[in-house]
Amino acid sequence: MPSRLLTVLLSVAFAMATLGATPAPAQAASFTDIGDSPFRSDIEWLAAEGITSGCGDGRFCPHGAVTRGQMASFLVRMFGYRAQPATDPFRDDNSNIHEASINRVYAAGITVGCASDRFCPDGVVTRGQMATFLARALGLRYGAGSDHFADDDDSKHETNLDRLFFAGITRGCASSTDHVCPNGTVTREQMAAFLHRSTYAQPIGPAGVVQVVKQPLTVIFTGPARFRGVTFSADGTQASHQASSGTIPAASSAADQTALVNGLRYAHLTSGPMAGTWVKVRSDLTTAMGRAPAPPPCTYQDVLTSRRAYNQFATTLMDTIYKLPSSYAPGDLVNTSSAALNSGYSIRSIIAADLRAMAMAARDAGRPIQVVSAYRSYTQQAATFDYWVSVGGYEHALLTSARAGHSEHQLGTTLDFTSMGGAAPWTYSDWASTPTGGWMAANAWRYGFVMTYPRGETATACYSYEPWHYRYVGKPTAAAVRDSGMILREAIWAAHGP
Ligand SMILES: [Zn+2]
Repeated sequence: MPSRLLTVLLSVAFAMATLGATPAPAQAASFTDIGDSPFRSDIEWLAAEGITSGCGDGRFCPHGAVTRGQMASFLVRMFGYRAQPATDPFRDDNSNIHEASINRVYAAGITVGCASDRFCPDGVVTRGQMATFLARALGLRYGAGSDHFADDDDSKHETNLDRLFFAGITRGCASSTDHVCPNGTVTREQMAAFLHRSTYAQPIGPAGVVQVVKQPLTVIFTGPARFRGVTFSADGTQASHQASSGTIPAASSAADQTALVNGLRYAHLTSGPMAGTWVKVRSDLTTAMGRAPAPPPCTYQDVLTSRRAYNQFATTLMDTIYKLPSSYAPGDLVNTSSAALNSGYSIRSIIAADLRAMAMAARDAGRPIQVVSAYRSYTQQAATFDYWVSVGGYEHALLTSARAGHSEHQLGTTLDFTSMGGAAPWTYSDWASTPTGGWMAANAWRYGFVMTYPRGETATACYSYEPWHYRYVGKPTAAAVRDSGMILREAIWAAHGP
């Protein structure tokens, strides 16, 4: 049931945030060159979070500069961006080690590059650029126009530098409290501090849900409040979990006021079951929330998947480990022609209405789609896999095809598409880069479909990138998965396990 996945996705995150006081940090990497850094604890936090592994040979290079490409990778590790753009946005980062991260940061709206279709990956990050990256990543809105610093009036980053000051992430450059040195280079140790401070007291709800109060101003955060792959609650669930862990302080005590001023640490909920109450925004929250259970490595096993009732189709875990029994054959199969598509393929009747709506929308957008595969029985999968073994060998077949019982096509809710009248989608270098494939990548979720095997996720998805392969999970779940930043396999595992 889609709404259950949605609920569980969220509650997993909240359980993670409240079970035990503080999650045990990973063993901090011990760098040999940070002994006299004023930001040593920030650097150790960065390493414990897995955001950095140093610059090699057990060193961190605290005074080294940060390139824009490195910055992209740091942001991806910290915020868990997963979405990829439909087309490659930059031409000067091809084959750069950070290209995948740069594309994700672009897709997340954190950067538009340094010029038309260029990112300048080797350029050095200035303090002003850092402010803009972080202000966008954190959705910071308040403090703009306060003109806190004297030396950034000509900087295009002034607004975001003011926002960072307001959020307590920077207090200026060391030389003077009213200077922020916008054109100064960000050193790696400073970056560690900026990123660490970004985890303090963040907004805990999307648009308008949470007020964070900072004396004497009342601030309404409007998000996005997304951290490390998990979206915050829209329904106040988080607040009630916080309450059960005993972190609601007495409202407006002197101590609270002090904390409010210094770090935006207390929140006043305006909706949901805890509306009207105060909660303490835990500084370890973003850390804890990132630790939803992750699926196991993609090994090749034949374990029956546990949620294999026909009405559990949205959360049936399918990968190289978990499979359906050979007897799984939905009884409500209908022809794809019932969904305003080419005939000759079978789908479950329960997906026909949303599939038809998607097909019509694609057509109306001038991007008509065509089905090239849908339901595949257990027997057909065995034949299909054997075919691919004969074409490319067993090892290759494992990555591009599924052994019998392991294919989502057996669910009757999964289809492969191509452009109307086009060639088979796998004959394109990247079907998602075509107008029709791009339309699907951007819009299929609106109709309840998820691209199960997105680009760059082979190790997690267990299969190579398949921009043509879409599985129906229903609209609420498709939206929840999209918001989570996780791929479907991760989202199902986080919510249900196997
Ligand atoms: Zn497929």
